[in-house]
Amino acid sequence: MTNCGRLGRWERLLRPMRGDGDPVELIPRSDRVLIRGFCAPVVLFDPTIFPGTDAMARTLFLRYRVGLVLLLLAIAVPAVWYPIGCSSPPPATATESSPVIRVRLLAGVDQATIGCAIPPNYRVARKAPATLNSPKNAVFTLAIGADGWQAGNARLGGAPTDPAGTALPLEIEPAELGTVTINGIAYRGRFRFVPVGGNKFDVINDVDVDSYLASVVSREMLPGWHEEAYRAQAIIARTYALYEKQTTGAEKQWDVYADTRSQVYGGIPAETAGSLAAVADTAGIVVAAADAEGRVKIFKAYFSACCGGVSQSGADAFSESYVPALSDQNVYAACKASPRFNWGPIDIPKTELTRRFVLFGQKRNRPEATMATIARVDIQQQNRWGRPIRFLVIDTRGNRFSLSGEEFRWAVNTGAPESSVLYSSFVKVISDSDKIRFVEGHGWGHGVGMCQWCAEKRAEDGLGHEHIILAAYPTAVLVRAY
Ligand SMILES: [Zn+2]
Repeated sequence: MTNCGRLGRWERLLRPMRGDGDPVELIPRSDRVLIRGFCAPVVLFDPTIFPGTDAMARTLFLRYRVGLVLLLLAIAVPAVWYPIGCSSPPPATATESSPVIRVRLLAGVDQATIGCAIPPNYRVARKAPATLNSPKNAVFTLAIGADGWQAGNARLGGAPTDPAGTALPLEIEPAELGTVTINGIAYRGRFRFVPVGGNKFDVINDVDVDSYLASVVSREMLPGWHEEAYRAQAIIARTYALYEKQTTGAEKQWDVYADTRSQVYGGIPAETAGSLAAVADTAGIVVAAADAEGRVKIFKAYFSACCGGVSQSGADAFSESYVPALSDQNVYAACKASPRFNWGPIDIPKTELTRRFVLFGQKRNRPEATMATIARVDIQQQNRWGRPIRFLVIDTRGNRFSLSGEEFRWAVNTGAPESSVLYSSFVKVISDSDKIRFVEGHGWGHGVGMCQWCAEKRAEDGLGHEHIILAAYPTAVLVRAY
């Protein structure tokens, strides 16, 4: 099944909510690649296949420049029609072929505040759609009980489950872009309210990936950063989202969190001219790499704020299978402009550090839950560039706990006050009599994949987004996904 045909508004809504295309799968065709389930053929940007990268870059640049002109026109034309001061959001950059990302905005809530500037269309438990009988600019509390969905004083009905016991959602589709808010924030796309038991529900925003990215790129990058860094971020964030969508289990109703557990998503108010342009300029482009069998596929395109000069591999950080595109690299001082390139020392009393490790162990059902007071901490293993990738914690009973660098950082940061957070696992450790000292810290975040401060530096140095990405992900190629 493809997404090629144009679908009417309710046809889109009436399709199975998960059925927005087959699972994303890249299928190599000699020097071309396509993603099954999407319509467009593929453009590759791969210096090993196209030795004339400058020519290719120029081709891409010209194409993107045309896209930028069209975007500016798209923004300018409505500006003529709408009076100055109108707060209508810019038109969506997406096409009908853009895959849909399912963002979980709220998890397990017992109510949500819904604002409707214009009465939206809604559908309960997959029955026929209707228009909500509400005045303009209505704000009401949505909840669910034994009698079904309750919107303010109005009962929308709907059984919480179908005969098979599956929770059926309430669906809301805004009459016009940006006219429905969830807890005060307007989002593109449409909404599902999925019961999760105990009169609680998830709020899920089904939004095409490019509309989603418009407020991810702005939230994940600093304002004022170079447009080429923004474009690189748009491609990486698109790849990350599509990978998450591809690997979501069939029973799961959503693909990504709306925060740092996936990517930070702010909705329409968070969109900026820079993020909209970066998404439009790179629409459909993702980063991919050959797997062990030589099949070119998208991968989990991790990124973090600052690598501190040495990145770590996805395999080391997250105990995942080794992916060459996510290998560790030494970039020396490329991202030294980051305020977290150097940090520390951070001193934490052993009793306080023990409290955090025990809490970490309890939350994750790990052996640290039984830990006695920490006696010492050592770096157990470093990567080839000298960045720690495994730590050894020994308690006063002599018990030994070996943690990967990221596990160690998560443990140190569990229940931690902001003043003693470990910004990264790229740090040296000194075990004093009553405290653990973290010194010579570098970087911010896990340090896997693209470093955003490195990306900004490379953009300042004149690199295009294609080269910024290929520098961050060795062996990778750029492909058109839709
Ligand atoms: Zn860096």
